Amino acid sequence: MAFDNIVIPPDGKKIETTGDELNVPDHPILAFIEGDGIGPDITSASKRIWDAAVQAAYGGQRRVAWMEIYAGEKAAQLYNGNYMPEETFEALREFTVGIKGPLTTPVGGGFRSLNVTLRQMLDLYACVRPVRWYQGVPSPMKHPEDVNMVIFRENTEDVYIGIEYESGTPENEKVARFLREEMGATFFEGAGIGVKPISAFGTKRLVRKAIRYALDYGYDNVTLVHKGNIQKFTEGAFRKWGYEVANEEFAAVTLTEDKLWEQYNGQRPPGKVVIKDRIADIIFQQVLLRPREFGVLAAPNLNGDYLSDALAAQVGGLGIAPGANIGDHIALFEATHGTAPKYAGLDRVNPGSLLFSGVMMLEHLGWREAAELIRQAYEKTVAQKIVTYDFARQMDGATKVKTSEFASAVIQNL
Ligand code: NAP
Repeated sequence: MAFDNIVIPPDGKKIETTGDELNVPDHPILAFIEGDGIGPDITSASKRIWDAAVQAAYGGQRRVAWMEIYAGEKAAQLYNGNYMPEETFEALREFTVGIKGPLTTPVGGGFRSLNVTLRQMLDLYACVRPVRWYQGVPSPMKHPEDVNMVIFRENTEDVYIGIEYESGTPENEKVARFLREEMGATFFEGAGIGVKPISAFGTKRLVRKAIRYALDYGYDNVTLVHKGNIQKFTEGAFRKWGYEVANEEFAAVTLTEDKLWEQYNGQRPPGKVVIKDRIADIIFQQVLLRPREFGVLAAPNLNGDYLSDALAAQVGGLGIAPGANIGDHIALFEATHGTAPKYAGLDRVNPGSLLFSGVMMLEHLGWREAAELIRQAYEKTVAQKIVTYDFARQMDGATKVKTSEFASAVIQNL
């Protein structure tokens, strides 16, 4: 395939997929979007660490062939004002794995958000956010070491789908009339109206991914988070369909929490993943008070959005929280914070969020040794109190370093 501005690295090979399996060559082509604002600073620092870790783990046998693709302001310069060129989507469809820095959403650019556009165009239906603590990272928790959870947030439906009717418009009046006259609904005059679709298809593909992840990464429970006590046919249906997929497709390796108590007196049989559910409001309390009881959490879009950021705060905040948006085949890893424009180009910010998104990417490729090396080197560096400004202001006796210097310290510790 020929692109206008994207250069396919000649020394790399494409990752292929067979069914659900990734076939990763030794020199895979990985796409990256540098990002706007602080994007270039954190991308160049993180790439140095990822490359050094792969080299340290596999001694030159494996190496990433990086392929830059474009979105945001850099794309607008290269593609005549187009912030999200078609060939960026084509490259991700073809090469399937990529990582991105944060993007500014252009005001009045015709996009709700570049990130939402990417997720929708590529059908990246699962937003995956692992939340765990690293020794030495400042946290508001008494026992942050007890937090080790992974949130699977549904990315393509729920109120985010954008079916909304503004108060005072003819469309709003038409929908309101239908609801009142034909469906017998009652609500205040002039109310804005939004629609919340949640489907069996959308729920089951998300929960399926969450259960597979728990099995692959050794988590012993999956919690369905929902507000089904109030929103019975959307959030409640999410719960019902979640249990269904566990029962229909994973009966041999899962059991419900009810069965755990009825048949096993609360003692989990080895090898089984416990499927449970919690109402969305209570989960915010329980992840704070009893974090050890939760492993993988699967949630519809809006609740998952809130929960992801709240959980990230428990282990040091968005500055180091990694994330990925994953579909059936394509996986796009991303920093979870924004472009922090006031720090753009200053070489000051924490590269942790993008760095750990890359750690997730290495795990996704099956390169777990390199991923683990980065974790250990990062922890060692923070334990030495070598940190960027954001951590330095919360720690006593820290050495405050630049983004690039932090990367060098991590590489030193690999
Ligand atoms: P932001 O860029 O996340 O920055 C808010 C604050 O968070 C920063 O001022 C800084 O706090 C802290 N911060 C963010 N990243 C950091 C890092 N790597 N290291 C240390 N501290 C970090 O949020 P925003 O200012 O609301 O949004 C700015 C732009 O980003 C907007 O255009 C928005 O649309 C976009 N955005 C993009 C994404 C994405 O691409 N995924 C996500 C969110 C927002 P202090 O000031 O306390 O130092």
